[in-house]
Amino acid sequence: MEKTLIILKPDAVQRGLIGEITSRFEKKGLQIVGMKLMTIPASIAEQHYAPHKGKPFYEGLVRFMTCSPVVVLALAGKDAIVIARKMMGATFGSKAEPGTIRGDYGVSNAYNLIHGSDSPEAATKELGLFFKADELQTWKPTIQEWVYDMT
Ligand code: UDP
Repeated sequence: MEKTLIILKPDAVQRGLIGEITSRFEKKGLQIVGMKLMTIPASIAEQHYAPHKGKPFYEGLVRFMTCSPVVVLALAGKDAIVIARKMMGATFGSKAEPGTIRGDYGVSNAYNLIHGSDSPEAATKELGLFFKADELQTWKPTIQEWVYDMT
């Protein structure tokens, strides 16, 4: 099973959307294998967004991501990375389609509620930044055979 790192950004937590957004992933069939509320240290935010270093929005982004608590989720499932990205919608809330998380809950471009890893390489790096190995659970959902057409 593929794993992906999701961050419910400070605006999602401040707006009381933790349950609603997390629930969408659960209902879709992506399995929660790690979950915690934390305030991201600046050094971790900088590593996480290192690919954007030097861009005009980078410093504000790091400031935003560290300004109040976030929820980090590790989700597992077949094609979890692509599925979660589709569910998130386009980067900018103003452009994201209705039906997606960003499209349904916001219009802001910078404060766009959610982060999701965009490749297997990014997922490996980001899961390592936010979770220790013993913070990830391996558990078998009893419904898995139906979710994945195994019977
Ligand atoms: N961002 C921004 N202005 C921009 C582009 C990006 O504030 O012009 C922020 C936004 O919060 C976005 C994050 O930087 O989610 C990372 O950008 P990326 O292009 O990686 O988008 P994502 O993968 O989050 O959709």
